[in-house]
Amino acid sequence: MTRRTDVVVVGGGQAGLAAGYHLRRRGLDSVILDAGPAPGGSWQHMWDSLHLFSPAEHSSLPGRLMPAQPGEPYPGAGHVVEYLTDYEKRYDLPVRRDTRVNAVRRDADRLLVEADAGTWRARAVISATGTWSRPFLPAVPGRAAFTGRQVHTVNYRSPADFAGQRVVVVGGGNSGAQIAADLALSGHAEVVWATRRPPRFLPDDIDGRALFDVATARRRALDAGRTDTGGVASLGDIVAVPPVRAARDAGRLTAKPMFARLTATGVRWADGSRSDADAIVWCTGFRPALAHLAPMNLRGPRGRVPTEGTRALDEPRLHLLGYGDWTGPASATLIGVGRTARDAVHAITQLP
Ligand code: FAD
Repeated sequence: MTRRTDVVVVGGGQAGLAAGYHLRRRGLDSVILDAGPAPGGSWQHMWDSLHLFSPAEHSSLPGRLMPAQPGEPYPGAGHVVEYLTDYEKRYDLPVRRDTRVNAVRRDADRLLVEADAGTWRARAVISATGTWSRPFLPAVPGRAAFTGRQVHTVNYRSPADFAGQRVVVVGGGNSGAQIAADLALSGHAEVVWATRRPPRFLPDDIDGRALFDVATARRRALDAGRTDTGGVASLGDIVAVPPVRAARDAGRLTAKPMFARLTATGVRWADGSRSDADAIVWCTGFRPALAHLAPMNLRGPRGRVPTEGTRALDEPRLHLLGYGDWTGPASATLIGVGRTARDAVHAITQLP
């Protein structure tokens, strides 16, 4: 059966909900198709100790402030799930769960969205599928030879799973620093942190609020045709959230330059020395989950779809939200996605 609607939103995480909010405000008929069984997007799957890098009031979607979490200056992931669950109820957003979109195709003056549960014909599509379902693992020599356990950020839950083990955490971004700190502070595991380049900690007083200000300044510069200020990446990579700061200040978060290869029993460093390891935790990032867009042949470099703002350059009826800064400054954050969602919905109202 083929249904008709103005806009199909693919993905019901924070980006999909922000889109739903603005679509509703504009009075557009829409449906949000989400592959998962429950609200909350990727926040449902984060590790136990993860906390936001901004206070609640700086982590809100449009229209509704995130309430503070009692006793926690920086809310935990479970609190975000509760907030998103409440958000979609409050605005009565048309989310259909357990509905994976397999393909989006052009069909004359409409886009066809093919999902497990049927097909939708829409004037426009907003893709908001995030990155969590596409963990990235780098090609490292010997990876297949290692006989211990290998997990990615997406499978990491808590230090208790590594009790008594020697663990190498790979990756110099926020996930790598936070997971290395989580393991090191727990005392459960012996941790080595391996990074491709020396870790770049942001100054301790910079949290998500300041990062958002930097993203805002960048957006203003771009809008005014001024030089790109480089966004947050120019300041550093790692937000010094309290556990990261504690582990770093206790001297338990010292990175070693990335190992040369994995061996059957551990790693071999560039200088030829070896460390035994029971487990490797790959905190090596994600790629955008865009397989459903393949029929439109829009892919550009680095697995992205070339965009102007949120709009796909080669398909004006398609917008992309979230994923990373390439869909708009701070588009992949709770506080930032509202603005890019608003712009995407505005552009959709201007379609012929
Ligand atoms: P997701 O939350 O991943 O939602 C995507 C949804 O799309 C999912 O529900 C999924 O089931 C669905 N989906 C996927 N493919 C399909 C398909 N083909 N068909 C239908 N549905 C599909 N941001 C902040 O603002 N503050 C922070 O402190 C912060 N900390 C972070 C910490 C970590 C470790 C990570 C990884 C990210 C963090 N972020 C933070 C960034 C960002 O806010 C989150 O990644 C956020 O979950 C992204 O939301 P999203 O809606 O774009 O994607």
